[in-house]
Amino acid sequence: MFVLRSGSLNQTLERLRKILELEQSRGYSNQAVIGGLDRFLQRMPPSTPMLSELLSRSYATLDAAERRQWVQSILREIESGAGPASAAPPHPKGTTSRPQVRKRAPMAIADLNAPITSLRGVNASLASKFAKLGVSTVLDLIYLFPNRHADYSCTRPVAELVPGVEQTAIATVWEAGERVMPGRKRAAEAIVGDESGNVRVIWFNQPYLAKTLKPNSRIVISGKVGLYHGRKVFESPEWEFLDSDDLTHTGRLVPVYPLTAGLSPRVVRRLIKGVLDSCLPALVDFLPEEVRERASLLSLPEAISQAHYPDTESSKDQARKRLAFDELFLIQLGVLSKRRDWREEESGYALRADDDAIEPFLRSLPFALTDAQRRALRETQSDLASSRPMSRLLQGDVGSGKTVVATAAMLLAVAGGCQAALMAPTEILAEQHFGTLCRLFRGEQDTGDGGSVRTFRLAPSRPITVALLHGGLRNSVKQDAQERISAGEVDIVIGTHALIQKGVEFSRLGLSIVDEQHRFGVMQRLELRSKGSSPHVLVMSATPIPRTLALTMYGDLDISVIDEMPPGRTEIKTKWLSPNQRQSAYDFVAKQIGAGRQAFIICPLIEESEAIQAKAAVAEYERLCSSIFPGLRLGLLHGRMSSSDKEGVMEQFRCGGLDILVSTPVVEVGVDVPNATVMLIEGADRFGLAQLHQFRGRVGRGEHQSFCLLLADTPSPEARQRLSLLERTRDGFALAEEDLRLRGPGEFFGTRQSGLPELRMARLSDVQLLELARREAIRLFDDDPYLERPEHRLLSEEVGRLWRSGGEPS
Ligand code: ADP
Ligand code: MG
Repeated sequence: MFVLRSGSLNQTLERLRKILELEQSRGYSNQAVIGGLDRFLQRMPPSTPMLSELLSRSYATLDAAERRQWVQSILREIESGAGPASAAPPHPKGTTSRPQVRKRAPMAIADLNAPITSLRGVNASLASKFAKLGVSTVLDLIYLFPNRHADYSCTRPVAELVPGVEQTAIATVWEAGERVMPGRKRAAEAIVGDESGNVRVIWFNQPYLAKTLKPNSRIVISGKVGLYHGRKVFESPEWEFLDSDDLTHTGRLVPVYPLTAGLSPRVVRRLIKGVLDSCLPALVDFLPEEVRERASLLSLPEAISQAHYPDTESSKDQARKRLAFDELFLIQLGVLSKRRDWREEESGYALRADDDAIEPFLRSLPFALTDAQRRALRETQSDLASSRPMSRLLQGDVGSGKTVVATAAMLLAVAGGCQAALMAPTEILAEQHFGTLCRLFRGEQDTGDGGSVRTFRLAPSRPITVALLHGGLRNSVKQDAQERISAGEVDIVIGTHALIQKGVEFSRLGLSIVDEQHRFGVMQRLELRSKGSSPHVLVMSATPIPRTLALTMYGDLDISVIDEMPPGRTEIKTKWLSPNQRQSAYDFVAKQIGAGRQAFIICPLIEESEAIQAKAAVAEYERLCSSIFPGLRLGLLHGRMSSSDKEGVMEQFRCGGLDILVSTPVVEVGVDVPNATVMLIEGADRFGLAQLHQFRGRVGRGEHQSFCLLLADTPSPEARQRLSLLERTRDGFALAEEDLRLRGPGEFFGTRQSGLPELRMARLSDVQLLELARREAIRLFDDDPYLERPEHRLLSEEVGRLWRSGGEPS
């Protein structure tokens, strides 16, 4: 009869039982343990009289019948004893249930906003590595979610391990030692096993494990099994002691965190696990209970816990839903409060200009406004007439005619006695807007006094003065313009965002128009207002934005959509060519030029660096000049050229002095050359759909049939999808919806460009959740617009936190 004195003895006997059962099942062939049963028995603690007795005999020397008797007698002893089997950890036998382990007392953490150096085991050096992941406080650590989970939840007996899949085994270490591998690399090697069999495990570059893994220790190993000379071997699996802690690295869905140099997965997991265990129970949910219930969401502690260490795939999804809801909900509360701020202001100019102010201008145009343009103009006009400053988004596809509407709006502001400003993201675009306006006004008398300030006599009333202003102008020209703006002599200013926002004092700015809005975040919109008075703000976006996304990115604005193209536009034919059709693309370009047309060739996007792009563009330009189009007139445009050189080339192209404009993506937006009919895009797979659509919008602006040719040498499967979509779809909104569905807005706009706080869990393509979050936000807002109620205090703090740390472009 056994006397069970300790847990360790209990385990030893349990292990012995399993091995003997295995030995039984293998016909007493002394193969249950690698190296034979004797070797195993020698390592057993000789703490019971019976074991001492047994150890005096050699199993290897017994014959089959003796072995059988020997094994059976011992098994009987074990079974009849106090029952190590029943006291032992449950059998994993091919089940998927998780091994149960004892919990360690949590560490105490007082303040979630404390730096992570306040955690045990985090020194300055470790903290600096976490800083690279954007983690500085304990709360940041809690919100450092894994990129994915490794599924180690399937536990199998050693004998049933399947090569090539992620799985887990619970085993006993029989022996462990250090090995020198070919190439003098050191490794730890162990033989581990359970009642079903044994397997070799090798940990490359971790020789110290040979000492850590003491014989007879029980471990959980997770990873993939490979085959070596036909035998299964675990290669560098995750592992942990079965009785050491709550499972952190193995045996379940295990988080795979983002890492940086010097940060090991185990360290990150252990740290986060510790923090979760100690902090979550005390974490207060900021989401009002009723919202949580209506939207059927997990509680915050539960969601965070399941996001890191999910019990099941479905609880992981539940966690993601809750956390994604939080992000979208907080964004909505943020934009709604911005919108409320806009609306409460009464300090704007009420510009009650009537139709007489724009009639002469509209009549001078060679075309009539489309219905959509007229509607947008009417909405703008009525906003301008209110002392509540306008906050309106004017959205319309490339070529839908936003500029005319914007120009009319500026004339209305001027007629109301104010100045107006039109801001473009680049100098080229500012130049071009200036040129467009001058041409639109030139139907009337241009009293052009040269420089960057021009005066036009549009109506019998009084002349209109327009100034161009950007950093590339000569200092004297710039200064002259600035002086005349602040003296109130200039009515309309066209310039770059940067310069107008910081460099100019207006005497009476009544309307600010921002072009190409997707480069401009909510916060920057707010800054427009902070220049003393509160001008009306109209933002123009050429990027069609799906409605749900618009409600998020522009939830603070009213929206006018120009959803109709001017009549008579021919469809741009889009063709995605295979790389071996490059020559025929060139032939096609040459033929179009022969017919009197012009072409754009866009160079591939090499890198974010403009310098490298410029260099590549120069090389491509030279190649095209010398070996492809030797007889034609080519021009080059890239970001490293001076703005007068850029403008020179643009002007040359515009007036027909060049056949082909070779350009880096700087030509992206706004350039208007009606005679250009071919847009050839090299490396088209490198661009997002929105940008490709913008490039395409550079042609088809005149009466001639236009073409967009796409070349991509080695497109990824996603890029192929994108290119074929562009080929089929010409409606920018449909394209945007589709792209959003395919890839989410991060890629569509570039995360920074969206101007939204960074999203970790939410996908803006998740329309349902987005709408749910918006509905709940509006409901809450109607009820408590300043989030002043005590039960909304935490929520209000949370909104502040998200928007402060948000991804606003600086
Ligand atoms: P967007 O800025 O929306 O891309 P633009 O304002 O540059 O578009 O207009 C594109 C072209 O269409 C310009 O050449 C413009 O003169 C012309 N256009 C604008 N409105 C109309 C209209 N209603 N009918 C015909 N042509 C128009
Ligand atoms: Mg435009």
